[in-house]
Amino acid sequence: MIFKKNVWIIFYFIFIVAFSFYSLLLYFRYYEIEDRRLLSYKYYTEIIAQATNSIFTQEEMLLNTLGNQLLKNSAYKNVEDSKKILDSLLIKDSLLLGFGLADIEGNILLTSTNIKLPKNANLLKNETTKDSFKEVLYSDSIVVGRAMFMKSLSKWVIPLRKAIRDTNGNIIGVINAAMDHNSEYNFLSNLTSAKNKSVMIIKDSVDTKGFYKLYDSSKNTVDDEFLYSRVISKKIINSSIKSIEKKYNLSIDDLRNTNQIIVFKIKDMMEKEAIIGLTYNKKYRLWCLVKNRSNEIYSEFLSVLIVYSLIFIFSFIVFYLLFKNIATSEKRKNDALVFQTLHDTLTLLPNRSYMYKNINRWSRYTTNGYYVLFIDLDNFKNINDKLGHMIGDDILVEVANRLRSYFTEGEMIVRQGGDEFIILKKCKNEKILDSKFLELINEISKTYHIDNKEFRVGLSIGISVYPKDAQTIEELLSLADTAMYEAKKRKNSYCFFSEKMRHNNILKADIEQELRSAIEKNELWMAYQPQINVDGSIHGVEALARWENEKLGFVGPDKFIVVAEETGLMRGLGEFIITTSLRDIKKIQSELNIMFNLSINISVVQLMEADFLEHILQLIENEKFDKSMLTLEITESLSIEDLDEVLPLLLAIRENGIEISLDDFGTGYSSLSILKKLPINELKIDKSFIDEILYDTGQKALVQSIINIGKNFNMKTLAEGVETEEQVAVLKNHMCDIFQGYYFSKPLSNNNLLQYLKHNK
Ligand code: C2E
Ligand code: MG
Ligand code: MG
Repeated sequence: MIFKKNVWIIFYFIFIVAFSFYSLLLYFRYYEIEDRRLLSYKYYTEIIAQATNSIFTQEEMLLNTLGNQLLKNSAYKNVEDSKKILDSLLIKDSLLLGFGLADIEGNILLTSTNIKLPKNANLLKNETTKDSFKEVLYSDSIVVGRAMFMKSLSKWVIPLRKAIRDTNGNIIGVINAAMDHNSEYNFLSNLTSAKNKSVMIIKDSVDTKGFYKLYDSSKNTVDDEFLYSRVISKKIINSSIKSIEKKYNLSIDDLRNTNQIIVFKIKDMMEKEAIIGLTYNKKYRLWCLVKNRSNEIYSEFLSVLIVYSLIFIFSFIVFYLLFKNIATSEKRKNDALVFQTLHDTLTLLPNRSYMYKNINRWSRYTTNGYYVLFIDLDNFKNINDKLGHMIGDDILVEVANRLRSYFTEGEMIVRQGGDEFIILKKCKNEKILDSKFLELINEISKTYHIDNKEFRVGLSIGISVYPKDAQTIEELLSLADTAMYEAKKRKNSYCFFSEKMRHNNILKADIEQELRSAIEKNELWMAYQPQINVDGSIHGVEALARWENEKLGFVGPDKFIVVAEETGLMRGLGEFIITTSLRDIKKIQSELNIMFNLSINISVVQLMEADFLEHILQLIENEKFDKSMLTLEITESLSIEDLDEVLPLLLAIRENGIEISLDDFGTGYSSLSILKKLPINELKIDKSFIDEILYDTGQKALVQSIINIGKNFNMKTLAEGVETEEQVAVLKNHMCDIFQGYYFSKPLSNNNLLQYLKHNK
């Protein structure tokens, strides 16, 4: 689960770890390359240093031999002999280009024949030669002088000087040799041909006069004059010394006293990093220096870097694609899950959660407000019960499809549950609205073809309007629901929420509040309205509930019975009504010693109670009431499906000797076939027919046919709301059996009924 949620976090984590590892690897590789390269400088420097040393050692030996020959038999005193000796050596060594002998004062006494010097040439007086000449006077071995251009040879040479001493050690003279510096037989040229390294031989500073280059293998870039005649920049020398001190903790004098080879890095004149291999030749006072030409550490590292980076990038592209794949499939799963929680599985329409989640965003795009349509299919329960849930589901799916194709994208269609749908529709043109709703009703109630069978479903729509009716969606839904119940009364129609409904709602809330304690407070009682036979004798009474509340005043039963039904108060209220009626009437019957009928109104909710029959039988038993004198009035406005459900109960009631009357007959939908099925003893013709009977011949004909139906089905007929003598006359004419209405008596209290009966006995 954690993995699912954090695929990308894991990816970034792995990336960071891998990147750190990769950086670390590069770091170590860099230093490994550097170490290896620096070591190679050390070896190379060592080779160069040894080669240099051996060249000078070889030349020293030659000069020693020369010195000995000149001393022998004091040959140096004879110019001719000396010249011969010098010339003979020229042939022996191709590196030495010429010789000269100087006295201790620096004056050139003689030279090999190939050299022509000015008459008064003096080595001590020449700026280039004077230091090395002074130096040789105190040295036993040869002294290497500064590189210089010899005019008579037209060549750059390196002077080698050697003092000749007699047996007492006194200097007799100084031999000077000119070593070829520039030719292709250059003394180090073979060794220094390495492409990426340059070699320098540097004459050590005598008396801090500065360092001079003797040889620089990179000389082809600049001219010799520039390279060899100028002292090496103090800046370079100092920074080198500093680098050495820092890395090896050695001073320049320490270096002069060891033959250690050191390698270090400095910034050169161009501020480029340079690698230097350095060692000192103590005997000839020479620094041997190897320097890189190109940054080979970087170039080797760069190729490593490129290879590693390519591997790293490639691996991560693969890795990224893998994670992307995982993430997309996780997202897909997640989306499917979210879809599931926010949609109805049957119709795939959004559900309530979806609506609550999205209502704010959705309503932001509505400028003129919106309608909340609460849709309930009519008689859908019947379809489910009779045809099975499979067909029911198929119809719901088809209804959803029709809704979907009827409404446009921007309108929200929600399955609220069961056979209820909610539609949020933006307000646009008010005028076409009514036709729109009628169209919708037509569309949904068109025939459905499922499994080669045809079905029809009606729908009732309740509508509330934002912002006119309410501000919150919860409230709007509850108002649309209220309006839907109004539409349900007519079926297959729509109804807008009205202020009257709001008022009723409030009143209902008050009624509910007060009704809860009405029985305890003794606010309820029963009134009884007499029912009279054609011959004027008493048939019975109808028990009617009465309630007077201190806050609400007198509340009619048509109002509070509905509230009791909706709020679960009906069972208690029903028990009160039945018990009180049975007790009151039993008492009157006993007192006057007459038997007459008692009709009690029973609401649908009471009929739906699982133990209704047992319960009422128990109450009858308690009051010792004669069952044959009891009629239960059920209203015809019971829906057809309800009638179907209560049929077994009605049969059982009849079997127990209790009669059943169908109240408000003519206002509902019962067909003849239903009437035939139901175990009814009495039809109560609704007051609305009686009211019109004198003026409307149609109504009169209707009443006549109701009475006929009653006769045919062997049922008594009772006319409700009879108010005038004329009405009585017409009804009698039509053979109506029983009459009830203000003409005979209004509903009476317990005591008044006793008086009424005594009086009319
Ligand atoms: P209903 O069962 O059809 O009752 C007849 C109604 O007509 C009674 O109104 C009665 O007072 C009235 N009425 C009778 N004769 C006349 C007349 O000549 N003129 C006029 N204008 N009205 C007349 P009520 O008592 O207000 O009851 C209204 C409805 O409330 C009843 O209709 C019944 O459906 C229901 N109801 C009343 N009491 C009970 C009860 O105890 N239990 C149940 N479940 N429902 C009751
Ligand atoms: Mg009634
Ligand atoms: Mg009635």
